[in-house]
Amino acid sequence: MSIAQDFELSIEFFPPQTAEGMDKLRQTRDKLAALKPSFFSVTYGAGGSTQERTFEAVFDIQAAGANAGYDAAPHLSCVGSSKDSIRAILKRYRDKGIRRIVALRGDLPSGMADPGELRYANELVDFIRAETGDHFHIEVAAYPEWHPQAKSARDDLLAFKRKVDAGADSAITQYFFNADAYEHFVAECRALNITLPIVPGIMPIASFSKLARFSDACGAELPRWMRKKFEGFGDDTESVKAFGLDVVTELCDRLLRAGAPGIHFYSMNQAELTAEIVRRLRA
Ligand code: FAD
Repeated sequence: MSIAQDFELSIEFFPPQTAEGMDKLRQTRDKLAALKPSFFSVTYGAGGSTQERTFEAVFDIQAAGANAGYDAAPHLSCVGSSKDSIRAILKRYRDKGIRRIVALRGDLPSGMADPGELRYANELVDFIRAETGDHFHIEVAAYPEWHPQAKSARDDLLAFKRKVDAGADSAITQYFFNADAYEHFVAECRALNITLPIVPGIMPIASFSKLARFSDACGAELPRWMRKKFEGFGDDTESVKAFGLDVVTELCDRLLRAGAPGIHFYSMNQAELTAEIVRRLRA
């Protein structure tokens, strides 16, 4: 078995806005379940409006996964929330048999000013451990190219260490296209005695213009050589897709060979690209 065949896989969804979207997500999930992921995670918006839809999607995945061998992992962000509201969510998840949580600070929606009672993700991890002991496997976010609001790379690394020291079990990175950044980040963590698994978050590329907008917002660097190639394809979506598949598959292959413990795909609720990349890695 090659290195790439034998890796932990997890896949991220966002909560759909409509009943139709929920049906479509079920179909996507069932296609991706054939890849045997350990879990499907579902994002969670700070500030209210989409939270019930996260619960609905999470419980739907959990019910389907009970027989199919995968878990549901809700994301939970703390910014703008009270301890009581987080406590109630943890109870709801616990009562439904959820065992894994992706614990985040989140970002306050524009117009919302109150940061709430837990200001950073390490405080949320602390709170989850204090309230629920070892019930949940806690994932936290990591930033190989550093979080855009961090004062310095060193401060961000120490903030990451605080999350780990608070009791995180593993980490998923922001997406990136520069394998050196991941390898350097992991080496810096190991030097600080941070030993938990750090799973690369990988973004399959469906549309270059959307990716460029998204990357600017979250601080992920699009290397110049990739940007130039994509720009050269213009509206030729087939070429964008083909090149994107090659680039992302090569990135995953390199990361796994360098010792990454698994891959977490930001699927954008689409099955095709994630499934094709995994098929190539396992071929
Ligand atoms: P933190 O770890 O708290 O860090 C946030 C910033 O604060 C960093 O710059 C850090 O250096 C700094 N910092 C930390 N502690 C301190 C301190 N004590 N003093 C000063 N500065 C400090 N967002 C969502 O809204 N919903 C989601 O479902 C979601 N899922 C995500 C999943 C993954 C895998 C990743 C990588 C990101 C996700 N995000 C999500 C985005 C995330 O919420 C944002 O990047 C957010 O800005 C930071 O969240 P965090 O948990 O990394 O925060």
